[in-house]
Amino acid sequence: MRQIIIIGSGPAGYTAAVYAGRANMRPLLIASSVEAGGELMNTTEVENFPGFPDGIMGPDLMSKMQAQAEKFGTDIIYEDVTGVDLSGPVKKVTLGSGAVHEALSVIFAAGSAYRKLGLADEDRLSGRGVSWCATCDGFFFRDRTIAVIGGGDSALEEALFLTRFADKVYLVHRRGSLRASKIMQDRAFANDKIEFVWNSDVVSINGEDQVESITVRDTETGVQQNLDVRGLFIAVGNDPRVHLVHGQLELTPGGTIAVEGRSSRTAVPGVFAAGDVTDPTYRQAITAAASGAVAALDAEHYLATLSPDLLGSTAVDPASSFETTTV
Ligand code: NAP
Repeated sequence: MRQIIIIGSGPAGYTAAVYAGRANMRPLLIASSVEAGGELMNTTEVENFPGFPDGIMGPDLMSKMQAQAEKFGTDIIYEDVTGVDLSGPVKKVTLGSGAVHEALSVIFAAGSAYRKLGLADEDRLSGRGVSWCATCDGFFFRDRTIAVIGGGDSALEEALFLTRFADKVYLVHRRGSLRASKIMQDRAFANDKIEFVWNSDVVSINGEDQVESITVRDTETGVQQNLDVRGLFIAVGNDPRVHLVHGQLELTPGGTIAVEGRSSRTAVPGVFAAGDVTDPTYRQAITAAASGAVAALDAEHYLATLSPDLLGSTAVDPASSFETTTV
């Protein structure tokens, strides 16, 4: 049995692992089988993470966080969690392989999942022109016309990145002004490959085997038009990934995990939450990382309240233990 299991391998999970590792808790971190590293793995240059004045590619940042977590003794398993039992003093985490891992505390930092538009042909044409990841799929749209849906930073980032390949990018937004930050707006407005389609909803994605066009409807006039596009990139936000803890942890009306004040403590003793699963507002790599640090500190304080008998049952294999460093 472990002292702590961390579920999630984004900035929140890895930062929690760095702190828990340095506190000699010998964390076990469960990274996903296909989405290890979280959302930043699908990002290009990260310009606003302190310490990297020249920017850093998202995957490089995540591999540095992973290396830092491992340096302090974090064990990582690349599998999906299929179930958790958070009741009682010993928490159980079940993986896709059927293996069950136990710990006295859990930090839940499973991140968030891309939101869908909810259109009939969205899933059918996924991978056939419909995508949620410009860095993964943009290359396939060289010299094509494509559309990006959304008005936030993600949509503008996707649109700007796609102008490297596409000959034209429609930015379709349901309102008449953008939610994105000023700097991203300025860049998008200055790019003459991007054409804005304001006050418009997508009503259908058209095509047999591949996306051939989308139909958009003007939300003010109701007038519909077809946009001839081969690619459709959906960037309309994310929803917290909380299905694993439904019925076990309390959720807020917005669907994030409820925590006590500025802490990471859920209503269940020994269970802490960090990153996008708790944050309906900021959702930055740096805020997720900070909440991971908070969660590890909260978990450390919780473990200190447990009986020596219980803690004694979390022996670490001395052959694989490590020396802590102090700063
Ligand atoms: P977001 O800020 O929540 O924006 C989502 C956008 O999609 C909004 O413009 C929203 O429209 C639109 N939308 C939502 N549901 C829709 C639907 N069903 N149909 C059509 N449009 C829909 O999400 P995000 O852009 O993914 O950004 C999330 C967070 O990450 C933000 O805090 C953002 O600043 C951050 N981020 C930062 C960077 C960066 O710093 N470079 C890059 C990416 C993301 P409304 O505006 O009308 O609500």
